[in-house]
Amino acid sequence: MPPTTGLASIIDIRGHLGSSYQKEATLPVVVQRSPPSTIRRRFTAYRLELVMSDLPRNILFKGGTIVTMDAEVPNLAVGDLLVRGNHIVAVGPNIDATYAEVIEAKGNIVLPGLIDAHHHAWLGVMRRLMPDVDDLFVYIDLVAETLGKHYRPFDMAVSTRLTAVASLDAGITTIVDACHSSRSKEHTDAALDTLEASGIRALHMVGSAMDKQAPSAHLPKDLERLALNWNHDGGLVRVGLFGQLNLDWWKVARELDMHILTEFIGDLATLGPEFAKPGVLGPHNIFNHCTRVPDETWRLFADRGVNITVNPRSDALFGFDDESFAYQRAVDHGLTPALGIDLDTAFGSDMFGEMHALFGHQRAAMRYRRFRGEANAPAPISVSEVLRAATVNGARAAGLESSIGTLTPGKQADVIMLRTDGVGVFPVTNAIGTIVQAVDRSNVDTVMVDGEFRKRNGTLVDVDLAKLAADVTASRDYLLQVSGHTPALFDRTIAQVA
Ligand SMILES: [Zn+2]
Repeated sequence: MPPTTGLASIIDIRGHLGSSYQKEATLPVVVQRSPPSTIRRRFTAYRLELVMSDLPRNILFKGGTIVTMDAEVPNLAVGDLLVRGNHIVAVGPNIDATYAEVIEAKGNIVLPGLIDAHHHAWLGVMRRLMPDVDDLFVYIDLVAETLGKHYRPFDMAVSTRLTAVASLDAGITTIVDACHSSRSKEHTDAALDTLEASGIRALHMVGSAMDKQAPSAHLPKDLERLALNWNHDGGLVRVGLFGQLNLDWWKVARELDMHILTEFIGDLATLGPEFAKPGVLGPHNIFNHCTRVPDETWRLFADRGVNITVNPRSDALFGFDDESFAYQRAVDHGLTPALGIDLDTAFGSDMFGEMHALFGHQRAAMRYRRFRGEANAPAPISVSEVLRAATVNGARAAGLESSIGTLTPGKQADVIMLRTDGVGVFPVTNAIGTIVQAVDRSNVDTVMVDGEFRKRNGTLVDVDLAKLAADVTASRDYLLQVSGHTPALFDRTIAQVA
């Protein structure tokens, strides 16, 4: 619930000082602004200082186009959104909040932060190393056996920071970080500490590294320590299990009330009958990709209410998908697929690109089915459904549906604001179409996570990009040097892996 004591204090102050004081009440220099020329004034100033130290910050997004993604909270062509502390407290026209810091939102679109429901943040420094790979095992050989096995905690930290900062810059306020490289407790701590320092909301899924000789004796036991350290109320960063199909590990995770993530590509994995037992599958599960999955498994997923992510660019890259397309299969079974970017070796932290791909992927697949004479082919996807996958469905997948994913009073303040004055964007005649089809990361003006600004006026807050770039280059160069791998700068084909 949002805190209310602050509001009560404001009302109390107003009774003594008049409404004009409201504007000043949020300024930290109020005591100095009240000359203590009498004892009474001095006492009043002292009381104000006490009250204000307790006061949550009020921020008003004013006069923007508000896209709430909540059917119960109407969208507004021109409206306001009020944040108090780390919560959204009001959405509506002309909110009276003279005590708030005002963010001029006129000509901008205000919407919930985007949610990247599947990303391997630890691959950050390997950006575009394999932009057009088409073989999963060539990819694994390079990222895990060649480079990943040399990762130090420093490389985990640098990659994770790069992914987190790039995500925030692009309006992504939450990531489900699928870490298939938790090589030691120190590596895990480096990733988690970095996520926390970045200010992004994250569900970090701890999993054994993919290279065959990787140490994993600390797992799943380390989950107990991690749950104790990270899975408490109010924290932005939480821990879950990247578990594949190992029920012994799942048991440990479930006893700690953790989410479980599984990469699930139909040709490579099938669920045995033990997964159909009551209590094994549930809303705590996230299955990624879900390509070429048999109908009986879809029915089991639907019955248990598991979460599905689709990764349109990655699925197409590796050829995981087929014409049935997992997004549509999930929808056909009543599930709510979320959207993930998956990897930086080809793409980057950009949900706009992923939304474009989802739209094109689903439309192409459904057009083929219509063209080939299927009478009841599903309808082509709408832009609203695309945005839903990138917000509400992602929140559900992360187990955070009740706290993020929509602009609903009472929810955590994960809010972004998009400029529409770019030459490729205006005029706005359809707000959701503009978000899904026209906007890119350069149009992201403001990013707020849990009430804190992470980007303002198009610039990241408290990020030393020069230092980050130097660290990224140092990490990448070390990994290339120690592994002996030489990337191809121009060659379209994948560099040969030793
Ligand atoms: Zn993946």
